[in-house]
Amino acid sequence: MSVLVYVENAEGKFKKSIFEAVSYAKAIADQLNTSLTAVSIGNVAQDELQKLGNYGAAKILNVNQDALKSFINQAYASVIAEAAEKIAASVVVLSNSFSGKGLAPRIAVKLNAGLVDGAISLPELNDGKFIVKKTAFSNKAFAYVELHADKKVISLTPNSYKIVEAGGQAAIEDFAATVKPTDLTALIKDIVRATDKVSLPDAELVVSAGRGLKGPENWAMVEELANLLGAATACSKPVSDADWRPHSEHVGQTGIAISPNLYIAIGISGAIQHLAGVSSSKVIVVINKDPEAPFFKVADYGIVGDAFEIVPKLIEELKSFKA
Ligand code: FAD
Repeated sequence: MSVLVYVENAEGKFKKSIFEAVSYAKAIADQLNTSLTAVSIGNVAQDELQKLGNYGAAKILNVNQDALKSFINQAYASVIAEAAEKIAASVVVLSNSFSGKGLAPRIAVKLNAGLVDGAISLPELNDGKFIVKKTAFSNKAFAYVELHADKKVISLTPNSYKIVEAGGQAAIEDFAATVKPTDLTALIKDIVRATDKVSLPDAELVVSAGRGLKGPENWAMVEELANLLGAATACSKPVSDADWRPHSEHVGQTGIAISPNLYIAIGISGAIQHLAGVSSSKVIVVINKDPEAPFFKVADYGIVGDAFEIVPKLIEELKSFKA
């Protein structure tokens, strides 16, 4: 029995969410009195792989094969399932990232395992039970899922588990995985970076704005505030529907669900469908001129006032702070 964590890379580097997944998987391995193995697919330098030891991986299976250069859901799921079988893993952990959302159910089917997607805390192991907490109904409730299958697949919501530095070293082992031609269903020819901005699902800080900003011409101050903070930008649905901002920035029930450490909402009313995607943010700051705006009910800090007066003041303050 052991625990396997899949460590996805972005252009050969691991993001913070991967160190969270490794720390989380290590804690599960400790609960089960076993060791943690990581599986990496793609071209990742040895010193980058070595970082995983610090978060608790004892061994790393390094799959670096030409056929697996670009991400293909079916093929990657097969490789991760093969790695799980190789080490007789009883639990497979991965980040509930964009690719993790596609991989987790496929791996669960291949291993005949129970699945919890979007876990937010460590499993509770009582009387032989294995219970995992996740959010449900667009973050309005929690579900406690009891897994009965011998094998378990858990995808962890980014920003929901603290990174723990274990200070260990990992042994790196090359792993030649079986690549089935039937798994190679699509080939990514090229990836062109659309923006150098912080990516929204991974962002720790997010500055978001809504219809209260009146029009796309007023987003310069939102961008400036975000740049000063090193934050990603987001928006409400009507804003992206009106093409004031790209759809990739739309957060909420029908957009991206995020859980950053800080979410600043400017001129957003706080409709339930918007909150569904942002309410698990650690700290919420709301700027709205209407003291009755529903967003204030879930805010940690609220500023009642005109965004066109408050945001420039915040920008000035941050600039003087940085000077
Ligand atoms: P408004 O509701 O128009 O609110 C604007 C706010 O700005 C107001 O609170 C106002 O007081 C404030 N304001 C105005 N001027 C200023 C100023 N100068 N300074 C400061 N504050 C100011 N919405 C989402 O965001 N995400 C979703 O995923 C989503 N999914 C949906 C799914 C369904 C099925 C449905 C029916 C709706 C969905 N919606 C979603 C829409 C949602 O119900 C709201 O209509 C939307 O979130 C409102 O956007 P808003 O807060 O930007 O605009």
